Amino acid sequence: MQGSKKAFDGGSLQEWLRETWDKTWNKANSRRATRYHWGIAIAYTFTANTFTAMPLEFATRLNNVETSAIRELFKLLGKPGIISFAGGFPDPAMFDVDGIREAVNAALTHEAGAALQYGATEGHNALREQLAAFMQGKGVQDLAPEGFIVTTGSQQALDLLGKTMISPGEKVIVEGPTFLATIQCFRLYGAELISAPIDANGVQVDQLEALMAEHRPKFVYLIPTFGNPSGALLSMERRKRVLELAVQYQTLIVEDDPYGDLYFNDAPPPSLLALSAGVPGSREWLAHCGSLSKVLSPGLRVGWMVAPPELLAKATMCKQFSDAHTSTFAQATAAHYLKAGRMPATLAHVRKVYAERAQAMGDALRKELGEAIDFVQPQGGLFVWARLTGAGGAAKDGAEFAKRAIDKGVAFVPGSPFYASNPDLSALRLSFATADVARIREGVERLGHAL
Ligand code: PMP
Repeated sequence: MQGSKKAFDGGSLQEWLRETWDKTWNKANSRRATRYHWGIAIAYTFTANTFTAMPLEFATRLNNVETSAIRELFKLLGKPGIISFAGGFPDPAMFDVDGIREAVNAALTHEAGAALQYGATEGHNALREQLAAFMQGKGVQDLAPEGFIVTTGSQQALDLLGKTMISPGEKVIVEGPTFLATIQCFRLYGAELISAPIDANGVQVDQLEALMAEHRPKFVYLIPTFGNPSGALLSMERRKRVLELAVQYQTLIVEDDPYGDLYFNDAPPPSLLALSAGVPGSREWLAHCGSLSKVLSPGLRVGWMVAPPELLAKATMCKQFSDAHTSTFAQATAAHYLKAGRMPATLAHVRKVYAERAQAMGDALRKELGEAIDFVQPQGGLFVWARLTGAGGAAKDGAEFAKRAIDKGVAFVPGSPFYASNPDLSALRLSFATADVARIREGVERLGHAL
């Protein structure tokens, strides 16, 4: 029997059992070996009946969704020494650990009962008050704490919008490109996604109007400020037009705004939410998702959704079935953090650091890749969105270039998965958030070698 026992290595269990059964057949020359052989035979019969005859049948809604190509790429990032521009994460070095520790202590000292107990689905009152004040500071004048709910990250707000608004086969307009998890999430609810083209000034509003007129979508999903992945910034003029279109076509606009606070020089135009006060009727057609993830900590999972009351009520009902409420402990912590007044200094710090890194990445890309790459220098957010031009016979395909780059010790995300349709194969997304300036220069130099 020696030599016939190849360990089960995590492949197909049945294949391994069959192979081992065959191998042990002729070697069953001791009692122990015979017992082992018949044990394998019984296990094979059991697995054949259990796993092959009755495969798990999943809900048909999963047929619309694939595991993201980006996840596959992330598996390669464990390679030692790799410099990664691939993630969408903030830099953990930016987390205000002292401030969060003080906020945790305050929550446990002053309201341990509430912070550790079940809470209201709509959110912890103290946090809603703080968030209303936070948004007021950004020009949202007429927002009462009852005008929004706290969600488990803004990702949950997007999921609740999908759950409450999308019936299978209904159309939703998104930007091309847009946030990958939104594409997956809305497809899970059966949405047919229509892509509206964008440029450096955000969604092209004439095209958006034409698509709204043609498709009469259930809603339009936009990331107007420093989009993921595009980094694009919707101009003031286009913002007003989007709000007018919402009223004209009586169509809900979803504004996803996790990056609006991450600007580098001048503040961006006010959010659609803030501007809606100046466009009569538009507030009734607007949902706004916000998040503390990119500026404070994604691990807290604190996001929010402002929406018309009837939509908010339905979303709250669905949230009850989903997670009952966002962690009261995280909410109390966030509330104490905001109350302590630390946010302005934290924002100033992260803006300064990311501005330096964005500049370093832009400069290095121009120096190392020159004509082979085309991009608009980002004014905020976490990403450089670029296109390979193929100039001088250099790489032209983002996915191909990503593989070559990994061989040279640098990673980024190819752009095509960010499109719901008609992907631009030459696109790529580079995050400047987590590597410091020296690593950014080194990583971009490696990109130059991969061209
Ligand atoms: N929207 C966009 C555009 C994002 O990039 C992200 C995070 N990558 C989210 C929503 C979700 O963020 P969170 O759930 O952490 O608030």
